[in-house]
Amino acid sequence: MEPKFPAEIIRVGAGAQQHVDAYLEYHRIVRDDDGGTPFSEADFERYKRRVGPMRIKNRIYLSWANSKGMECKQIGPETKCFCGHLYHQHQVDFRTLPSERPIQQPCEIRGCGCLTYTYCPTAMGGSHPKCTCKHSGEQHSTRKPFKCKQVSCKCFGYKSAYNCGCGEPMYNHSMQSESKEERIAKGKPIGQEVIYKAMGGLTGFSSLMDGYMRYDNTGIGALPEEVLNSPITMNDHPFLRGNLASVVAHRRANKMPIDEREIRELESQQRRPGESELDYYERRYQERQKQSKIYKGPKKPAISNERSNFSITGSSVKRR
Ligand SMILES: [Zn+2]
Ligand SMILES: [Zn+2]
Ligand SMILES: [Zn+2]
Ligand SMILES: [Zn+2]
Ligand SMILES: [Zn+2]
Repeated sequence: MEPKFPAEIIRVGAGAQQHVDAYLEYHRIVRDDDGGTPFSEADFERYKRRVGPMRIKNRIYLSWANSKGMECKQIGPETKCFCGHLYHQHQVDFRTLPSERPIQQPCEIRGCGCLTYTYCPTAMGGSHPKCTCKHSGEQHSTRKPFKCKQVSCKCFGYKSAYNCGCGEPMYNHSMQSESKEERIAKGKPIGQEVIYKAMGGLTGFSSLMDGYMRYDNTGIGALPEEVLNSPITMNDHPFLRGNLASVVAHRRANKMPIDEREIRELESQQRRPGESELDYYERRYQERQKQSKIYKGPKKPAISNERSNFSITGSSVKRR
């Protein structure tokens, strides 16, 4: 089975780890560009020399933004388009960046007909939210303006009343493509220079989270010992949660105690087979809600404010 990094964790022996790393590296760079037959070493080198400069100089930072320019969704290689195909299956490599905005990025899957990548959130169950014409997203054309294909339906283009986590309806959002220079000029992060295919808007650790969850409270200074030693649970800051796997590994290696809540959290962090990104965040949100009701954290009267500033609590996240 094809590993879908980072959603899946593969457990292997130390010797095999190297091969897995090499495979993942190759996969992230080439994706489907080898047509299913792995490149020879020489071909791979040639391929990297061809695409490398384009991916570093002409990367398109693609996001789905609301009317205020908030980047509610960063598009990454495996983010689905309204046409049903993934971002890396669309044109992402450009010798010269077109001047139009947003940049047209047609789907490269034969016969699809999608003219440019268009993000559409998936509702529970993994399908697009229903259109105001009452037909499902999938019953609409994959070509702009995404007319409904049902006979006698008067819909002139897919429009959903679905509300994004930012509070604005879906139809207030649009695709936003920026060059590296444009982002630098606006003071936005550009991430590492990588030659992985279709990195789009992914610039760091938390880019896969929805926009409204990405506003990190950093720079609050060093935390007291007591807080640092308490278990990392889902109510903690995304940075801590993101590092939980390495924290637990470190504790195991040093025979330090591991809180069972951390094990539970680690398990819950993994995306389950068949679970869409939105389902994943919904499940995490529900679990967080549940946990904040049951578990109030260790007694820490003097520092409780600091700790809660450092975490994202369910109540501060506005949902539909
Ligand atoms: Zn397509
Ligand atoms: Zn598409
Ligand atoms: Zn419709
Ligand atoms: Zn319709
Ligand atoms: Zn939004």
